[in-house]
Amino acid sequence: MRESEKGSPVEETAAPEARARSAIDSAHEAFIGMDAGGFITDWNPQAEATFGWSRPEALGRVLAETIIPERFHDDHWHGLERYVDTGEAKILNTRLELSALHREGYEFPIELTISSSGDPGRPSFYAFLHDISERRRSEQFLRAQHALTKALAQAESVEGALPEILASLGGAMEWEVGSYWQPDREHLRCGLTWHSQDRTDSPFLQTTRRTLLAPPEGLPGEAWASAAPVWMTDVTVNSNSVRTEAARREGLHSAVALPVPGGDGLRGVLEFFSVEARPHQAELMDMMSSLGVQAGGFLDMLEERSELVTRLERLATTDALTGVVNRRGWEEVLVREIARSRRDGAPLYVALLDLDNFKGYNDQHGHQVGDDLLRETAREWHSRLRATDILARYGGEEFALVFPTSPPETELLVVERLRTAMSSDLTCSAGIACWNRVETAEELVGRADAALYQAKRTGRNRSVVAEA
Ligand code: GH3
Ligand code: MG
Ligand code: MG
Repeated sequence: MRESEKGSPVEETAAPEARARSAIDSAHEAFIGMDAGGFITDWNPQAEATFGWSRPEALGRVLAETIIPERFHDDHWHGLERYVDTGEAKILNTRLELSALHREGYEFPIELTISSSGDPGRPSFYAFLHDISERRRSEQFLRAQHALTKALAQAESVEGALPEILASLGGAMEWEVGSYWQPDREHLRCGLTWHSQDRTDSPFLQTTRRTLLAPPEGLPGEAWASAAPVWMTDVTVNSNSVRTEAARREGLHSAVALPVPGGDGLRGVLEFFSVEARPHQAELMDMMSSLGVQAGGFLDMLEERSELVTRLERLATTDALTGVVNRRGWEEVLVREIARSRRDGAPLYVALLDLDNFKGYNDQHGHQVGDDLLRETAREWHSRLRATDILARYGGEEFALVFPTSPPETELLVVERLRTAMSSDLTCSAGIACWNRVETAEELVGRADAALYQAKRTGRNRSVVAEA
């Protein structure tokens, strides 16, 4: 090694190996050495911290048995064999992201670079690596948040949003199956399940959908009762409910239950399971629970929005003076009622009711009193309607009614009941038409209008039924 003119005397006198050793031992990266036989030859303090094995314990152990999850063992041994035979390796001197195994049995993601030295027939390998769980988690968190926001932006109702929430959190946070629990009187009931793409619906999920929990029973019950998230690293130990048994049979281990706030309390509980035993990590728990809270907030917003839309819709189809359906609402109602009659075959009637000489009444008492009379008439009539009848203000002092009849009731009786319920000595005339099962809504109203005209022409204060 070239001597540095500026170097301190200590550095200059220390042996190169000792200096390299000291750099490796104080590195923030884990440093691991492995020989051609797959045995661990080096292990610095950061490797001890990362994997839970002390240096004396690790040295001489088989690397694969120590830090590689079992499902990657074949790849590991084949790769090593190929390199020893051919000097070929795809994974050397490049940055990799892999899954590693902690001494306590859980997996975590690492980033590493492997290099080799010595002759290809008898190589040694060295790797610098570090735990990237935290980075993965923030990536997952962002992904989950993004998925959640997207799902909710497109949702129109709470019912429509819930499957999306379940799928976006389950997918982004890499769970295997999930469910949503909601209160059903004293119990929690699973109303919805989700599974990852490489899974199918399963006996576990079927059992889950049939399960009724009395909080604090079960994982969701515990989260519900405590209003706090609950984490279980392995549900298959220390528990023997029917669901636990089903989880065990399907290889599910870790589970989390997240309360979803709603209004002033809780709306429900989200529950997720994973195949790998995930260690209890405060950060992950915080993330999941903050996603649950976000979902709850979004659902509240969605609910408020849909209530607002319903209110606005009702407002848009309600007559401001009388509170009955307005002309715009009437058009919708009539089309709907005709469609219903077409389906169920029941006869359908339309009546137009017009106050007699209302212009004179206005002139005599003033417009204000005229308004009061309109309001009062609508109220009286509305109170006499059956659940199946719909009254609308068709125009100025003209009302429209759509209704079915069945014997002994006749269309005339229905309309006369209203006509005789006028709150003053004012009278009204009515024209009635029965839907002929082929005409349009407009044609039907046209015939009722013609009958009304007939009633006016023949002396007012009467009902006329249109010819079929
Ligand atoms: P007819 O028996 O032929 O129906 O006579 P009429 O006077 O009731 O009919 P006309 O169509 O000549 O006049 C309707 C009157 O209804 C005119 C208008 O001043 C009154 N009117 C319409 N809308 C309202 C309203 O919202 N409030 C009040 N106070 N009056 C209204
Ligand atoms: Mg009139
Ligand atoms: Mg009129």
